[in-house]
Amino acid sequence: MSYQHIFGPVLSRRLGISLGVDLVTHKICSLDCVYCECGKTTNLTLQRSSYVTFEVVKSELDHYLKHNEDPDYITFSGSGEPTLNQDLGRVIAYIKAKRPGIRVAVLTNSTLLNDPGVRKELALADLVVPSLDAVSKEAFLKLNRPFKGLLVEDIIEGIQTFAGEFAGKIWLEIFILPGVNDTPKELGALREVILSIDPEMVQLNTLDRPGTVSHILPATKAELDRVKEILDMDIIQIIAKVADKKSMGRNRDMESAVLETIHRRPCTRDDLVAVLNADPDRMDTLLAKLEAQGRIEARQQARGVFYRTIKFLAK
Ligand code: SF4
Repeated sequence: MSYQHIFGPVLSRRLGISLGVDLVTHKICSLDCVYCECGKTTNLTLQRSSYVTFEVVKSELDHYLKHNEDPDYITFSGSGEPTLNQDLGRVIAYIKAKRPGIRVAVLTNSTLLNDPGVRKELALADLVVPSLDAVSKEAFLKLNRPFKGLLVEDIIEGIQTFAGEFAGKIWLEIFILPGVNDTPKELGALREVILSIDPEMVQLNTLDRPGTVSHILPATKAELDRVKEILDMDIIQIIAKVADKKSMGRNRDMESAVLETIHRRPCTRDDLVAVLNADPDRMDTLLAKLEAQGRIEARQQARGVFYRTIKFLAK
């Protein structure tokens, strides 16, 4: 079976072996971040809906869990904002009933956290990773290019309210774009907000793959170190690249895994080798074959050659 809405598993730099679930189709989001690895938002919306139906996700999960080892985490992320799917809570509840041992994580852009219904659904998860890149309106608009009328102060209030209610772990993620949200003033304001949220961890991220806007550059290690120093908290981590390999996903067909992974996010050959725990020579052969077949394309970017799908072919 070739999956359309679940992907991986990948060796996540944050979660261990993580099976991804994508509850919206490309590319539905309430933001259109300049750094988005999934491409431009084509449906900029705050409307919750069954963008992918519960039955379809359930059927893919059932098939995956029947034929593969259980992952450490099932993570809701992918090519848009997962809380926009109105069946999110139903899917989490289904996973928890079927496999209570698998932890559930939700990566969210935080824009719907001021909705009590969304907070209630997220309460079923073990880990929520809300993003907050900016406190000032200027930086928010520049970085996140929100749905019309979305206010950063409402998003902050939503995260604060959620943090006050949630019994699981919260890791706040901040994407640093040099020259936009790394000024002492912005970071000082962010620090105050972080203190009010009191997350277990704050993760500093920067551009790793090509963003929507081609001219933006990632923060350097020195710039991230400086941000960490200004924020000055023990809970801050600069997200490191996946370093070690564990046995994972042995049952998965590598070609499907590669296509599902790069369908959502362009990756270099080394990214694919790392996240799919693949043999490098075998990966080279596979990428060359897929490129020759016209199924994927290679593009030179600052960090290397990135592969993306031209057309996602179900087997
Ligand atoms: S980075 Fe996340 S929140 Fe921003 S546009 Fe992409 S999917 Fe949406």
